[in-house]
Amino acid sequence: MSDSLAPPADPSRDRFFKLVQTYLDRAGVLADAPASVLTFLSQPKTALVLHFPVRMDNGEYRMFKGYRVQHSNILGPYKGGMRFHPDCSLDHFKALASLMTYKCALMDIPFGGAKGGIKFDPRSVSPKELEHITRRFFHALGSNIGPDYDIPATDMGTSPQTMAWAMDTYMNTTGVVTKQTVSAVVTGKPITSGGTHGRVSATGQGVVHCIVDWASRNHFELRGKRSIVQGYGNVGSNASVLLGGLGVSLVAVGDHSGYYKNPEGFNTHRLQQYVIANGSIKGYRNAEEISRNDFFGTEADIFIPAALEHQVDEAEARLLKVELVVEAANAPCTLAGEQELERRGVHVLPDLLCNAGGVTVSYYEWVQNRSAQRWTAADVENKLEIAMKDAFRRMHDFAADRDCNYRTACYAVALERLMATYADRGVFP
Ligand code: NAD
Repeated sequence: MSDSLAPPADPSRDRFFKLVQTYLDRAGVLADAPASVLTFLSQPKTALVLHFPVRMDNGEYRMFKGYRVQHSNILGPYKGGMRFHPDCSLDHFKALASLMTYKCALMDIPFGGAKGGIKFDPRSVSPKELEHITRRFFHALGSNIGPDYDIPATDMGTSPQTMAWAMDTYMNTTGVVTKQTVSAVVTGKPITSGGTHGRVSATGQGVVHCIVDWASRNHFELRGKRSIVQGYGNVGSNASVLLGGLGVSLVAVGDHSGYYKNPEGFNTHRLQQYVIANGSIKGYRNAEEISRNDFFGTEADIFIPAALEHQVDEAEARLLKVELVVEAANAPCTLAGEQELERRGVHVLPDLLCNAGGVTVSYYEWVQNRSAQRWTAADVENKLEIAMKDAFRRMHDFAADRDCNYRTACYAVALERLMATYADRGVFP
């Protein structure tokens, strides 16, 4: 393995969708899934690739490539984030869209699965260009999205501001009379534009609920433990701040700018503010830069991958010295990485459950928009905690009952939900 900042060359990268299918097939055996249901889920219903021009600040036009993959809407409208990142592909979005289908089914949320985004680096353009790119993309999507049909949200490289532009573009292009009724077309909006309390921290909060639940089931005292976190954006920073409140210190952290350690423990809140102001951890005082390998080899108790997919391959899994890996990112472990962790007795809390707090609170935002309600922060927090605990219990009970790992249990619980709906409704005609 090279000891650079870049993630390892990953041969499974272009087979991400296949990897998800492998997990589903394994779960299908335990859930006794009919072959027909596995066939229905074996491809997305729609895969859009859009090219659109945007005039840049220097007056020149640049072509952008956008995607929206709609995997399944058997349980409700398509739902899933929009990612702005230079390293993405159709296979990527197919896999991420299908993960959303299973995540919503596991959480028992009446949504299907979708994912999309634009292949570019949002840090490389000006704020004005970013707004134009976002608006042009959402205009190009046209009626392929909608509050009853497909509801995008934030993901990597997008923010509440992105969603405000997206909503405004949709509102202003779908008819003057219906304008005020369509704010639910996207979630993750700023609170001042129809967003909900608790959405910004929801995914990190859900991650922490999972850790607390796991710790109490395993008699693992959290106070005094150490964490390492890869990715200090929305999910990684909010999870770290909340974990800090439970007495878990952050001793190493990494992002696209590099990896850093502080054996005394970072001030998670101050680091979060620094990253919001400066765009990365680079230059933060009280941090010593380390290599990627040293980051993975840091002595700690909990590792939270909260950046990109496929970061923990066999080599990284061998380096890790933690007891628990909490998959805040989607699919941060490769198949080989997960096998190595399992072989070494490292516990893994899977992505389908761990990062589901985001879509759960997105659902709460959608319900509030649709019914013209405003819930308090406490309402949202209480509902989220109950939802995460219920889903953890469904996963745990299935795993205990059928003697499988948590990942297989998550997929199996999701499949059972999907199978029941297909059994009720059949397939038209
Ligand atoms: P974000 O854009 O706010 O933060 C991403 C972080 O990853 C940043 O710190 C960035 O520097 C880091 N990163 C990017 N490339 C990296 C690299 N090569 N090496 C190390 N770090 C790198 O994104 P986010 O919303 O926090 O999402 C993080 C992960 O969580 C993604 O996998 C996303 O799909 C998943 N997720 C997010 C949500 C949500 O509500 N935001 C919900 C579910 C899942």
